Amino acid sequence: MAPDIPAASRKIAVIGGGPAGLMAAEAICRDGIRVDLFDAMPSVGRKFLMAGKGGMNITHSEPLLPFLARYGARQAKIRPLLEAFGPEALREWIHGLGIETFVGSSGRVFPQDMKAAPLLRAWLRRLREAGVDFHMRHRWLGWDEAGRLRFATSQGEQSFGFDAVVLALGGGSWAQLGSNGAWVSLLEQRGVTVATLKPTNCGFDAEWSEHFRSRFAGEPLKSVVLSFTDSAGVVHRRQGEFVATANGVEGSLIYAMSAALRDKIAAHGDVLIYLDLMPGKDESQVIKEIAHPRGSRSMASHLQSRLGIKGVKSGLLRELLPAHSFSDPARLGSAIKALPLRLIAPRPLNEAISSAGGVVFEDLDDRLMIRSLPGVFCAGEMLDWEAPTGGYLLTACFASGRVAGLGARAWLESRSSSTNSL
Ligand SMILES: Cc1cc2nc3c(=O)[nH]c(=O)nc-3n(C[C@H](O)[C@H](O)[C@H](O)COP(=O)(O)OP(=O)(O)OC[C@H]3O[C@@H](n4cnc5c(N)ncnc54)[C@H](O)[C@@H]3O)c2cc1C
Repeated sequence: MAPDIPAASRKIAVIGGGPAGLMAAEAICRDGIRVDLFDAMPSVGRKFLMAGKGGMNITHSEPLLPFLARYGARQAKIRPLLEAFGPEALREWIHGLGIETFVGSSGRVFPQDMKAAPLLRAWLRRLREAGVDFHMRHRWLGWDEAGRLRFATSQGEQSFGFDAVVLALGGGSWAQLGSNGAWVSLLEQRGVTVATLKPTNCGFDAEWSEHFRSRFAGEPLKSVVLSFTDSAGVVHRRQGEFVATANGVEGSLIYAMSAALRDKIAAHGDVLIYLDLMPGKDESQVIKEIAHPRGSRSMASHLQSRLGIKGVKSGLLRELLPAHSFSDPARLGSAIKALPLRLIAPRPLNEAISSAGGVVFEDLDDRLMIRSLPGVFCAGEMLDWEAPTGGYLLTACFASGRVAGLGARAWLESRSSSTNSL
């Protein structure tokens, strides 16, 4: 990084080098408009690379309407962003980087080799060639009295003036990868409304006994149905898998329902979920199998041989049911079909896959410029939306980055005669 940026070429700054900020930089950096991209970390895209570790699920192949429904209460706000740069456009853009994509059996879209690193490498090469200047280890601290952007750098604090800035600072989870949510107070001081950052796609705490925790933490529960009633009285029901952890539960089935579970806990102090451990059999079949004479066999081996219930599923029954239930086939059978488990708290924000909350859309115009701070645009996970995993997070980050980048360009062009800096 060259600390002295020639004043003549200072134009648009992008702060934050995740998928939203990099996409904003790409949208801006044409026709000689210069982009300086700042990031607090020694390198960009750390969370993006982390997302690629277990298989980079970059978007989803379902049609736009069900796709939009994944953004829940914010779908009307996300819609124009995806109409400008939706899942199909994103796939074409990835192909343009020389990376093929494929649709998995679940409809999720992945790069051919499932990895994020080759995509990021190709993208950064293209951005550098297009003239984006990267300034690493520059932590944004807000604005100085002259309206310039302040940064903590290895050479002490430095301030630079720009005509416009795109903030793409991420949410508040996995702070070790760069996005720590410290920007919230910087924007609130300037009068911007920021909905509290909350964990989403997160695990939850349950009150396991020491016995259960020591024997079953880390064990997956495969093919169960989870149901519960949310704060509005709507019943949620879904089949999938999750993992019993030392503190409670996590995994894809839990993440998929995490927003409603979190909100129910916030409203009621806890949430009761019901687990169907035998989705393939109805209750009467389960009771019939349990009532089958078991001779001298223990109930545990009876359940294993008649219903295949063993390991963590068996441990959960012992953990959550009173002992007398095991001598009553009807009671045990209905518990196997709807085992109540109380969740008491979401895991902390830093552990979550993503954050809900952020800069509220009401404070932004159609180009994602903060109405009260002309020339300041926002994109990515720092905006007030949430979505389940499945590629919906990255898709909205890319799309909002592009809209904010194009917005910053258009704004700069519309006032090219102005000499004011931020
Ligand atoms: C383990 C894990 C797996 C995931 N898997 C998937 C997946 O498969 N599919 C999917 O769609 N999504 C996934 N996600 C979510 C996805 O990675 C994020 O939603 C996405 O990276 C957010 O992009 P962003 O550009 O808004 O923010 P970020 O990627 O968080 O980037 C923000 C950048 O801003 C920088 N920054 C923050 N504050 C400052 C500051 N004050 N000054 C300077 N720089 C700053 C940070 O260093 C960082 O580089 C996953 C997330 C995690 C943690």
